[in-house]
Amino acid sequence: MSVFLSRERRRLAPYAPGEQPRGEKLIKLNTNEAPYSPPQSVLDAVSAAAGGLNLYPDPEGAELRAALAVYHGVSPRNISLGNGSDETLAFAFAAFGGAEAAFAFPDITYGFYPSPAALYGVPYTEIPVDASLKIRAEDYVGIGKNIVLANPNSPTGEVLPMADIERVAESNPGRAVIIDEAYADFWGSSAAPLTKRFENLLVVRTYSKSRFLAGARLGYAVGDEGLIGDIETVRYSFNPYNLNSMTLAAGIGALKEETYYKERWREIAETRDETQEALRELGFVTTRSMANFVFARHESVPGAELMACLRERGVLTRSLGRERARPWLRVTVGTPEQMKTFVGAAADAIKTYCS
Ligand code: PMP
Repeated sequence: MSVFLSRERRRLAPYAPGEQPRGEKLIKLNTNEAPYSPPQSVLDAVSAAAGGLNLYPDPEGAELRAALAVYHGVSPRNISLGNGSDETLAFAFAAFGGAEAAFAFPDITYGFYPSPAALYGVPYTEIPVDASLKIRAEDYVGIGKNIVLANPNSPTGEVLPMADIERVAESNPGRAVIIDEAYADFWGSSAAPLTKRFENLLVVRTYSKSRFLAGARLGYAVGDEGLIGDIETVRYSFNPYNLNSMTLAAGIGALKEETYYKERWREIAETRDETQEALRELGFVTTRSMANFVFARHESVPGAELMACLRERGVLTRSLGRERARPWLRVTVGTPEQMKTFVGAAADAIKTYCS
């Protein structure tokens, strides 16, 4: 333990990101990035913005917020920008959480949530997902806590219907209900329109997955002016220039390329479904993922072992430490060729029991 860490900070729970290999030639299916690059027009917009790097970026991100407001049919006052959605999520824990304002989230979900909770001293309850790894909305109805639910959930890819989100938001007045929509574009449903009806509903989205811009770090929240105002108060207390000018330009550029992205989302969903089918034929059990990854288990090899033997075969995937998730492996959907290689490697791995 560090000698210098203050007493208040000694209970941190830092997040362990997935491996970013350096130099090694691996098929990278471990952190749900896209196998495609963003369109050329987005790269051009980034280059153009680089010309103005002597100046600070717009701390309000006004142009991007205006574009996102049009995209979601809301006002710019309903949008707050983050350096990746992790930052926006952390702002939400800082803004709405406290010793007397606990959070609740599922036991099998995005592993980052405990990190900002620990950083800001926010108690939290982990609510078990059901036997088929689905979130049960009833568990969150009227619980009187702040709530964060990933929809689609990670690592399962399972989704909650909008009617359930309405029930959860409606039954927890005065508490923030945060829907993390990192993977929502691959499904095509969003709770963003519901933020007009529920003043306690905050929808958090990212450009990392469905806009192929994980390296640019861009996320945002959509919500009622009150909630967004609270997030902005935290943002201005933390880092008013949290987004650089090139990322702001990428964000605006990407919104002009809806046709390109929609076509790729369709391809990714098709490849996902084919991969799930191929895995089931090999005897794997899979969840019904609606995201850009599959979640699968095979009775002969636990997740961590399978991950290790796939790595030996040149494919990087992700197993999760959590007890209930241990049999499982999460695999990002890459190109059809990459997924063919992965399925071949998985078939080989289970046949040879990873020897
Ligand atoms: N939410 C979920 C459910 C995720 O899986 C991720 C990516 N690991 C994020 C949020 C954060 O993404 P980013 O910070 O890149 O926007």
